[in-house]
Amino acid sequence: MTRTTAQWQAADAAHHLHPFTDFKSLSAKGTRVIVRGDGIYVWDSEGHRLLDAMSGLWCVNVGYGRRELIDAATKQLETLPFYNSFFQTTTPPAIELAELLAEITPPQFKHVFFGGSGSEGNDTVVRLVRRYWDLMGQPKRDVIISRHNAYHGSTMAGASLGGMSGMHQQGGLPIPGIEHIQQPFWFEQGRGHTRDEFGLTAARWLEAKIREVGPDRVAAFIGEPVQGAGGVIVPPDTYWPEVQRICDQYGILLVSDEVICGFGRTGQWFGCETFGFRPDLMTFAKGVTSGYIPLGGVMVGERLARVLIDEGGEFNHGYTYSGHPVACAVALANLRLLQREGVVERVREELAPHLAWHFEQLADHPLVGEVQTCGMMAALQLVKDKATSEVFDPTLEVGMVCRAHCFGNGLVMRAVGDRMIVAPPLVMSIAQLDEMGALIRQCLDLTLADLR
Ligand code: PLP
Repeated sequence: MTRTTAQWQAADAAHHLHPFTDFKSLSAKGTRVIVRGDGIYVWDSEGHRLLDAMSGLWCVNVGYGRRELIDAATKQLETLPFYNSFFQTTTPPAIELAELLAEITPPQFKHVFFGGSGSEGNDTVVRLVRRYWDLMGQPKRDVIISRHNAYHGSTMAGASLGGMSGMHQQGGLPIPGIEHIQQPFWFEQGRGHTRDEFGLTAARWLEAKIREVGPDRVAAFIGEPVQGAGGVIVPPDTYWPEVQRICDQYGILLVSDEVICGFGRTGQWFGCETFGFRPDLMTFAKGVTSGYIPLGGVMVGERLARVLIDEGGEFNHGYTYSGHPVACAVALANLRLLQREGVVERVREELAPHLAWHFEQLADHPLVGEVQTCGMMAALQLVKDKATSEVFDPTLEVGMVCRAHCFGNGLVMRAVGDRMIVAPPLVMSIAQLDEMGALIRQCLDLTLADLR
């Protein structure tokens, strides 16, 4: 049944509570109804085409409408739409996906625990980490250290691990046993130092927190290789190797949340490979299926797996959709497509350098105070005064003004405060990247004109 946009909006406002949304604004302003996708573009109910420079929500990495993924889902739905992996049962797609993940992830990973999302994956991380230290005879090691402005999901544990102040203000978060340190955000905290110096300083905030909590109380440190939702905060090159050194020194587990960075986004298969660290656990979701169907999970390194398997007995944790056969079949098709088409190599060698070139050009714009890129992720920091890097009064919501111009001119770009970010599909053509670069400049010009 086809409805008008106004009809869709009215029904949506009447019944649908959207994530991370002021519910009242839905009836006041209406919502954009996206009806179709093809390649790197989506279309709204008014027929406007938008270049989707956010890959949906950092996930549609192979673009919309890929026949291989659709066929894999259809075939599996016809064969066996669901069976669980509880109580000594499993399905061929879950087995094959576990095998393939063990092959493409770093060598310390041979085992996976499946869930339905990144948030569930991070809940599983908390359960696994605490179970491991119990089994190691150190049950007091139950504190997990994370970072302010991190995003690790919306479940109670995910939101607690995350460092979003707005989330912590609601519902009594964080839950006990989670501590936060400052993020490695050079533009905000590091100017006056070289990026490399600042990277070491920021990593050593972890060491200071470990000493404060007590080294025998700290179970793990969790971080996104590049903080995505926080505004594409690319850490200095010195940061992660120093974090690794500190975790090794204190025997602390290192967790890489690869929900955004995994499966090629940074130009390697996983963000930890780009930044040179060796996690004990890795959370994944989003890009594993290119968002075509929900799937997430945790890669469990041998350090934990051996203890959990050999000494753990029953692990009392799991989700109905852990190892969902249709989701696993789609993930297999997606990962084989990435392998067959050499997508990760092309990101590293061709697309990421071209994206970086565009952002270097945009750095000249009077509104831009800093640009950061990593693989197929990039950020532009909007500033009031380019010379001094003075930022805008937040009540002006300059980022939202720019975002509105993007939508109005056929581009999906996200605003995190006054930081404009993109994470486009990993299968773009060079011409499409050029189109995106030109649209961004046009929208910056329109934003500047509004401010004058
Ligand atoms: N971890 C990171 C780094 C994320 O970016 C996200 C979602 O954006 C999550 C976890 C939560 O994933 P989900 O929304 O699938 O629960």
